[in-house]
Amino acid sequence: MKPDLKGMTRGELERYMASIGEAPYRGRQIAEWLYRHGAASFDEMTTLSKALRGRLADEAKIGNIVPLSETADPGGGARKYLFRLEDGETIETVFIRLAHSRSVCLSSQVGCPAGCAFCATGAMGFRRNLSAGEIVDQFLKVRASLPGDARPTHAVFMGMGEPLLNIDEVQNAIRILLSPEGPGLGPRRVTVSTCGIIPGIRRLAGAGLRVELAVSLIASDEEVRGSIFPLAREYPLAEVVAAAGEYAASVGRPVTFEYLLLKGLNDSREDAGRLARLLRGVRCKVNLILYNPAGTGGFEPSGEPRAAEFAKWLIPARVAVTVRRSKGARIGAACGQLRAGHDPAGGRVGTCMEGRAGPPGGETDAE
Ligand code: SF4
Repeated sequence: MKPDLKGMTRGELERYMASIGEAPYRGRQIAEWLYRHGAASFDEMTTLSKALRGRLADEAKIGNIVPLSETADPGGGARKYLFRLEDGETIETVFIRLAHSRSVCLSSQVGCPAGCAFCATGAMGFRRNLSAGEIVDQFLKVRASLPGDARPTHAVFMGMGEPLLNIDEVQNAIRILLSPEGPGLGPRRVTVSTCGIIPGIRRLAGAGLRVELAVSLIASDEEVRGSIFPLAREYPLAEVVAAAGEYAASVGRPVTFEYLLLKGLNDSREDAGRLARLLRGVRCKVNLILYNPAGTGGFEPSGEPRAAEFAKWLIPARVAVTVRRSKGARIGAACGQLRAGHDPAGGRVGTCMEGRAGPPGGETDAE
């Protein structure tokens, strides 16, 4: 099978070129063509000789995800893309425009093994991990579809899948997104969102990429959390919070805890008190997320008045609290709604986006 050059970092491309007897600096040139210029074929790489382009076309390939459709939110704040992968699977990616940022919400898996009860992606089950190339290509294809002054400024791993269960490919994708040969995003402009996969949090810290981390807590009561998040027993709350605190210490910035408010399940004063105690002493901020019904699990949203009350109950934790409503609910592109499929009635239902977290700033805030 031909190696796919899209998804290789600059270092990997340099090593690949050396391995086929070509000058390693050609690897940097290829990285620039792929990730800065968005080249979809070797023919476009005009700084390479014709002979080298021909050789690469014979011996390697450039994987490309294929855009199938785009749906714009009538409010103008979000745009959802459906892509087909080489093996026929489909994924969705969402672009979210705000006053001060333009984020691409990236999928990291087809389906998701985590199985959160409120999440449309979780209900799909797990199909496979995405490669680094397929992850980065979502960013490149969304970028190419937008005019120059509307190009994305941020990338958030909050689409389909649990990114820390696909950590190798996600880390390589981040390296490419941060690289000067590519989009060149700063680490503060890339957010990885997780339901609390502790080994993944530690590996991300160890990789030294220094990106933002958002951790979804789901509930402050272990039993309630376990009824919603099947992996809760493997990753207990106190240990998840401790690992997130270590991550915050390693990057010298607060970590974000996401808390999806579900009516009657995790939105009581007691829940808030427990959450405040859990977070005491951790360098963090809290996003309270207003739930977008995804037709999964029969959950109900708590509503904005309860969210505002809940925020007040967290005052003893002495952390910054923000109430967020995800953009894109009208086009099935909001948190918990992504599913990458067609509903039985024939209407698009969108992919799942992490029910746990909205894109940073991608929401209506009520601090
Ligand atoms: Fe997976 Fe995220 Fe959905 Fe949970 S919320 S099932 S981790 S995609």
